[in-house]
Amino acid sequence: MERRFKSLSAEATEEIGVRLGEQLWGGIVLTLDGDLGAGKTTFVRGLARGLGIEDGVASPTYTLMQQHDGGRLPLYHFDAWMEGREKALLADGADEFLGQDGVSVVEWAGRVEGWLPSPRLSVELLHDSPDTRWVHLRTAGAEGAPEGALERIEALLRTLDVPGGVVEAAAPAKSDDPAEPSGRGHVEGP
Ligand code: ADP
Ligand code: MG
Repeated sequence: MERRFKSLSAEATEEIGVRLGEQLWGGIVLTLDGDLGAGKTTFVRGLARGLGIEDGVASPTYTLMQQHDGGRLPLYHFDAWMEGREKALLADGADEFLGQDGVSVVEWAGRVEGWLPSPRLSVELLHDSPDTRWVHLRTAGAEGAPEGALERIEALLRTLDVPGGVVEAAAPAKSDDPAEPSGRGHVEGP
């Protein structure tokens, strides 16, 4: 299950985060990938707002994890960017948080994917123009996922409303699934 959006502004990217944040549940793990300036922190700020968290969200680059309380659920914001973080994520008890009571977001998750719990909601941000970004949301880690967990993320993705300032792209054609419609969209994907 994948949905692809084109966000036309930073506010629109944040709003996608808000709409997800409003619906997330304890234990969900999101991965967040995208180059510098792609909008990762902007998106997490939205997630935090959607969870009702009022304190500010910054890039956690120089800390392994930033915890934000005061919302409907705690938000654990991890950053696997620095060299060696892979080990720290494992050794420093990240699994105390990952997949537990709160919502976990792991930036630069590509580096640690093999160690993350399944399933996950993958968020990928890609530069398009100076003011526009592709936002790809998909399920990941189907193997080894507890019964029903993947379906729950799929249901969230399927029912997610497109906020203002966001246009939905055609879903990629899936040759192995003829039942899947190839297009929902208004614009072409990259
Ligand atoms: P990252 O954390 O991935 O390095 P940030 O969220 O800190 O990125 O920064 C994204 C920058 O890009 C901000 O300055 C933001 O205003 C700008 N921007 C412009 N258009 C968009 C968009 N459509 N979505 C997200 N950010 C955007
Ligand atoms: Mg950042």
